[in-house]
Amino acid sequence: MVKAIRVHRPGGPEALQLEDVELAAPGPGEVQIRHRAIGVNYIDIYRRTGAYPAEYPFVPGHEGAGQVTAVGEGVKEFEEGDRVAYVGALGGYSEARNIAAESVIHLPKSLSYEQGAVMMLKGLTAHYLLRRTFRVKKGHRVLVHAGAGGVGQLLCQWASALGAKVIATVGSPAKAEIARKAGARDTILYREENFAERVNEITRGRLCDVVYDGVGRATFPASLDCLKPFGMFVSFGSASGPIEAFDMGLLAQKGSLYATRPSLFNHTARRGDYEDMAEDMIHAIKRGHLTIDPPESFPLAEAEKVHAALESRQTAGSMVLIP
Ligand code: NDP
Repeated sequence: MVKAIRVHRPGGPEALQLEDVELAAPGPGEVQIRHRAIGVNYIDIYRRTGAYPAEYPFVPGHEGAGQVTAVGEGVKEFEEGDRVAYVGALGGYSEARNIAAESVIHLPKSLSYEQGAVMMLKGLTAHYLLRRTFRVKKGHRVLVHAGAGGVGQLLCQWASALGAKVIATVGSPAKAEIARKAGARDTILYREENFAERVNEITRGRLCDVVYDGVGRATFPASLDCLKPFGMFVSFGSASGPIEAFDMGLLAQKGSLYATRPSLFNHTARRGDYEDMAEDMIHAIKRGHLTIDPPESFPLAEAEKVHAALESRQTAGSMVLIP
């Protein structure tokens, strides 16, 4: 038996219940990991509320780091005692779990378990958004919504390290400071200011090459007004709710724009891509393009409190649960 947080029906943070659950030996192709740190992500909220479907009961959490304690049949790349990190199937909010070895990478000694537990889902998301979805280059003007958030700060850092001019929207002056430290040249308090007008002013009418939007409903369609002709709108999340169906003709009206709704899980579906992306990200960390700050830590039993803070916009940066 191990302690784990389970969800039995969709609901608010109180739906997260600490329970004892069975942990079988790892199956073929699986490893068993004793968690040392577990990443908390906005997707965990979509799962808890039922916005993203899951079979009940389930243990939330897609990201973590720890030590391998057992390996299943056919697993050659890992052995007991290895330090590892992963992004993968549900089951993260637990003392220990089994997971497909395909989802796991070796955690370099230079990175702590806490860093490992936040760099996989958020860091790899920043990677594919900046290197695969739209290849950010020196001189690009980039708008990052929620620039002080977990993914947001990594986007600000890495895009500015690539030579882009980053504008970040943020929910408060304190978050503006955080986004600036992360690399944003300009910040916009989008709860008070009209962000599309401000982007127009800041860029002197030249607008942005790309908008990275994890906020969704609240920033659409104004985000399209921040793009220059042929610019790229990347909708990668919906913290404020999903974007409603819209007429594709809008993209023509706003300047023959491109729009995409990517998911990390498509990008990491092939092991070779996953390994390349992780290697690239770790290289960016070593070069100082990406800094994975030690995240705020909370006991696993406080998952409810952490979810309440995340969805009420009180947090900045990354958080981990410690079992
Ligand atoms: P964040 O730390 O960014 O938290 C969400 C932030 O969104 C808040 O802090 C808040 O920042 C902002 N926000 C704006 N409106 C709302 C609202 N109505 N309710 C709550 N928050 C709001 O979370 P993550 O870093 O975990 O994730 C960021 C986004 O990236 C999410 O949408 C997530 O789903 C998405 N994501 C997508 C992936 C993909 O592959 N498609 C992979 C990983 C993450 P502020 O106060 O500054 O407005």
